[in-house]
Amino acid sequence: MLYAVISDVHSNLDAFEAVLNDIDRRRIREIIFLGDAVGYGPEPNECIELLSGKCSTLLAGNHDWAAVGSTDICCFNDYARHAIEWTTEMITDRSKAVLNSFVLSDEKKEADAFFVHATPKEPGEWHYLLSLGDAEVNFNYFDNKICFLGHSHQPFIIERMQSGELVLLRGEADMKPDSRYIINAGSVGQPRDGDPRACYAIVEYDRVEIVRIPYNIVNVQEKMRQAGLPHHLIERLALGR
Ligand code: ZN
Repeated sequence: MLYAVISDVHSNLDAFEAVLNDIDRRRIREIIFLGDAVGYGPEPNECIELLSGKCSTLLAGNHDWAAVGSTDICCFNDYARHAIEWTTEMITDRSKAVLNSFVLSDEKKEADAFFVHATPKEPGEWHYLLSLGDAEVNFNYFDNKICFLGHSHQPFIIERMQSGELVLLRGEADMKPDSRYIINAGSVGQPRDGDPRACYAIVEYDRVEIVRIPYNIVNVQEKMRQAGLPHHLIERLALGR
């Protein structure tokens, strides 16, 4: 039992390739993608192509469906909206077809794991799961031992012990037989936890680990400048915010 969970690539090909190299180096054969292939970054088609070739599960994020007109962008801020309008113009028909094939949730029965972009409670409403209180509610909306999600770009591991007590863990955990878990895999292409390195999760039997991978941020920023993407989005990549 060995697989990788990646989320929120956001058209950042350099970060994605650095993560794929690390996955390859560790001889991990299965990759689950939790959504947001596009938005913010400069290389949407390349990322979509690579994702569809490498991942066994492809989930939809709000940016993916926004780029193909399948979800409302009313709650997007100006920068995100600008990037999505740019993305919609840039993506090919083939990319649109791939984005349209993305699903809201999936499970991997043999790993007793459930996968969703935003929340198990209302996957298509794109709410954020940010607190232990949010987690407590959402533990009631999936049956598996583990739920992986993304969306907030902030990695964490929340354990629900058999007693009902919730514990916030970071970095890594040895998963216990009687506990259940909600795990945020962080973001490959636009981390927002103050660490600008690409982020993803690895599961090996009962062990889960959040890993950070450095990549050439300056190179991506230059591509974003050339694409005319908003200055704010270019700056924040280096800050991990
Ligand atoms: Zn995202």
